[in-house]
Amino acid sequence: MFKKPGKGLKKSYQPGSMMSLALTKGLMNEPGQNSCFLNSAVQVLWQLDIFRRSLRHLSGHFCLGDACIFCALKSIFSQFQQSRERVLPSDSLRNALAETFKDEQRFQLGLMDDAAECFENILERIHLHIVSDPTTDSCCSKSCITHQKFAMMLYEQFVCRCCGASSDPHPFTEFVHYVSTTALCQQVNRMLGKNRPDMFGELLQAANSTGDLRSCPSDCGQSIKIRRVLLNCPEIVTIGFVWDSEQSDLTDDVIWSLGPRLNLCGLFNRVSDENAKRCELHLVGMICFSSKHYSAFAYHTKSSKWILIHLVHIPLNFSDCSFVYNVKAKVPKIKSEQ
Ligand SMILES: [Zn+2]
Ligand SMILES: [Zn+2]
Ligand SMILES: [Zn+2]
Repeated sequence: MFKKPGKGLKKSYQPGSMMSLALTKGLMNEPGQNSCFLNSAVQVLWQLDIFRRSLRHLSGHFCLGDACIFCALKSIFSQFQQSRERVLPSDSLRNALAETFKDEQRFQLGLMDDAAECFENILERIHLHIVSDPTTDSCCSKSCITHQKFAMMLYEQFVCRCCGASSDPHPFTEFVHYVSTTALCQQVNRMLGKNRPDMFGELLQAANSTGDLRSCPSDCGQSIKIRRVLLNCPEIVTIGFVWDSEQSDLTDDVIWSLGPRLNLCGLFNRVSDENAKRCELHLVGMICFSSKHYSAFAYHTKSSKWILIHLVHIPLNFSDCSFVYNVKAKVPKIKSEQ
């Protein structure tokens, strides 16, 4: 069933065609393996053209042998490309991940774990395999995919609008921008009627600064909000939704709040990079959690279609989603294809 997408593929595709399911290979998840969190992260990375091509061009790295996440990921990617099998094992990566994180007791064999954190840790490990420098914030290696493509370089600062006093800027780097779904839904209700699909960034920013008030650093009596400033222009931005409310089901509200496009100027209080000011990012990947199982959706750029990668029941009730945005992809028509 697998067909390597060729050049003329786009023309042969009809909207709603189920052929899209045959465009990718599955990763094995046998009973008791609980590898769907890892498989989803790998599948989304594979579908990201920028990541896939960049990794292909990299060879030299600090190798850790059996515990080498870099080698294991490369091997899965080359099998994705060359193997005739429709379903491939992800055991080598699962083992490398378990070995790497055994002291922290995370991502251990047979145990379920968090897909967004797995995604984030794979990126961090790739940086370490290429640069071998644990201080990730100052990485400027041209070959480090993690920092060149995914990193958001930010600083946070409290600035008082009333007296102008400001706190010391706090610089940091993030690969996943986490947003609370409870705060998101509060903002959806506040912005009711004013919220437009192209304001998804603004919505996330409002949710992210909810309740983050401090008193003015010069004690002028004002309570002031945190400001987050983006310094670079990441090619891929990942949003992680934190489902922090066990009580109520926010699923519908969260799904309706989603926008297929994201402006970095909306997402952060200020953007200093000129390219970042202009660029609009398009939704190209999703990892969702439902019924104790992860599934991944990816936008297949060559066929301009969304594909569900894990052939399990489609999660109608998402309870955990992470979203990956990509600068280069075309506009996904999610709504019309649902
Ligand atoms: Zn290696
Ligand atoms: Zn790096
Ligand atoms: Zn003040």
